[in-house]
Amino acid sequence: MIPLTEAHTYVLQGCAPLETASTRSAEALGLVTAEPIMSNEQVPPFNNTAVDGYAVIASNTAGAPVDLNVVGAIAAGQAPSTPVTAGTAVRIMTGAPLPDGADAIVMVEDTTTSDDQTTVTINSSVEAGSAVRRAGEDMQPGQQVFDAGTLLQPGHLGVLATLGIEEIATHRRPLVGVISTGDELVEGAQELAPGQIRDSNRRTLLAMVEQAGCTPVDLGLIRDDEAAVEAALRAGAQQCDAIITSGGVSMGDFDYVKLVLARIADMRWMQIAIKPAKPMAFGTLGDTPIFGLPGNPVSSMVSFELLARPGLRKMMGLTGDQLDRPRISAVAEGPLPRRPDGKTHFARVNLRWVDGTALIRSAGGQGSHQLSAMAGADALAVLPDGDGLAEGDSAIVFVLHGD
Ligand code: AMP
Ligand code: MG
Repeated sequence: MIPLTEAHTYVLQGCAPLETASTRSAEALGLVTAEPIMSNEQVPPFNNTAVDGYAVIASNTAGAPVDLNVVGAIAAGQAPSTPVTAGTAVRIMTGAPLPDGADAIVMVEDTTTSDDQTTVTINSSVEAGSAVRRAGEDMQPGQQVFDAGTLLQPGHLGVLATLGIEEIATHRRPLVGVISTGDELVEGAQELAPGQIRDSNRRTLLAMVEQAGCTPVDLGLIRDDEAAVEAALRAGAQQCDAIITSGGVSMGDFDYVKLVLARIADMRWMQIAIKPAKPMAFGTLGDTPIFGLPGNPVSSMVSFELLARPGLRKMMGLTGDQLDRPRISAVAEGPLPRRPDGKTHFARVNLRWVDGTALIRSAGGQGSHQLSAMAGADALAVLPDGDGLAEGDSAIVFVLHGD
């Protein structure tokens, strides 16, 4: 058996970031920048008001209450016209440009306007700059606003829109094919014959691929036939940037997927010192990475989380901490027992926060076939070789719902 770190390193060195393409900013959610994004403008583009109120000369408000003559009004979207001079004020709405002469805004709540709107009483004094949003306070021309390797989230798209940047260089989103094979598997709602089960891994893995930020491609449930498996793998490698299989990677497994991959691809068959998900194969078919995940439903999900997802995220253009799930320290609310067996166990747990402390408890049955507990789990708790956790013990957990 090899340590998980060795398998992780091996998978990552076989996955390269995909090439760069020019992408419409409006379609870039979830893609990764291939170049730094530079600001070409000042944001905000002009001095403007953060509140509804009156534009004033701050020194005129000393000794408030004071009365000022209202010499104009300006709404957002209007160009400034009437300047503010000593003893005057201009009514102004949030986002409107600061009139010439003014250096502060008094918010409307601190004023009283005469019935005929010609005079405003300033009820409390303001400092110069009060409620003014300065040009360039957010971004400056020539400033780097995002690094290369940024995973684009909604706020990033807003920044690009603000700057008028409509095309950016991103890494192409990986197309990831998912294949199931196995004589026992059937598709859909059809009645099960003796010995048959429904193919659940493909549905799960396609969804995991999508949540990881890639485009899933359903390569189907391939019947157990050497030629059919080979044809599906070869066609998948043509169409996709990576392929995920599940099942048929255990020791002594004679699934056709193993037979075919051993012949046509350059695979390393690994036995990793973890439970679940001990067997895993990784390699390339041509230059297409192939992730051979174990068949047990929980094993395939854990293997995806620990090994395939980091590899796919590297292909997306992510690096460092962005490849793996976040890891935090948590305290066991109840026992999480295990037996010594030379492996690191990944227990499916639920996570809740109490006064800033993460608390974990078993999410249910810990068998590698018990998908329902994995489905409801929030995290995988790392149980080093030994007897597991007693109530109150701390453990590192991989949080499953987050980047
Ligand atoms: P294998 O790794 O092929 O020996 O499979 C291990 C276990 O996972 C067996 O019980 C298989 O029936 C099951 N299995 C394999 N592939 C799938 C799948 N696509 N969906 C659900 N269970 C599967
Ligand atoms: Mg099988």
